[in-house]
Amino acid sequence: MIGIGYDVHRFAEGRPLVLGGVTIPHSHGLDGHSDADVLCHAIADAVLGAMGLPDIGHYFPPGDPDCKDISSLKILETCRDLAEEHGFRLINIDSTLIAEAPKVLPHRAAMQANIGAALGLPPARVGIKATTNESMGFVGRKEGIAAMAVAQVEAR
Ligand code: MG
Repeated sequence: MIGIGYDVHRFAEGRPLVLGGVTIPHSHGLDGHSDADVLCHAIADAVLGAMGLPDIGHYFPPGDPDCKDISSLKILETCRDLAEEHGFRLINIDSTLIAEAPKVLPHRAAMQANIGAALGLPPARVGIKATTNESMGFVGRKEGIAAMAVAQVEAR
C-alpha cells in the first residue's frame, strides 16, 4: 500500500529552521505550533495515508498544548507505533523539499538518519530530494517551504 503527503509552512523570523530533525542555519525558521518540520509532516501524512489512517491533524490537533514546540520526529515515532498497532511494516519513504533557500542537500544524510531512526527504517530507505520552485509562486517568493512525500507499507 502507498500513501502521499504534502505540507507547507510559512517562514517566520526568530524561529529555528528544522527540517528532517536537523536544525539548519538560515535567516528564518518556519512558523508552526510544533517545531514546524515540514518534511517530517509530509512524511507522517504519507505513512498514515498508506495505512488508511486519518491525517496528522487527527493525532496531533493544531493548538494542542501537548504538541507545543515538540520535535516532529516524535510525530514520526507515533506513526511507527501506529504501524505496529495496525499490523503494518514500513518499506520505504521518498520525499521532495521545495524551497528557494537554504541549500538542504548538505544535511541530507543527517536528515535520513533522523527520520530513519524515528520510523525504524534504514537511512537508505528514506529518500530525500530537494528542488527550487524556479522563483515562481509562494515558494519562489521565499514565503515558505513545501514538502511532498510518498510512503510504502505492507501488511505484516
Ligand atoms: Mg505541518
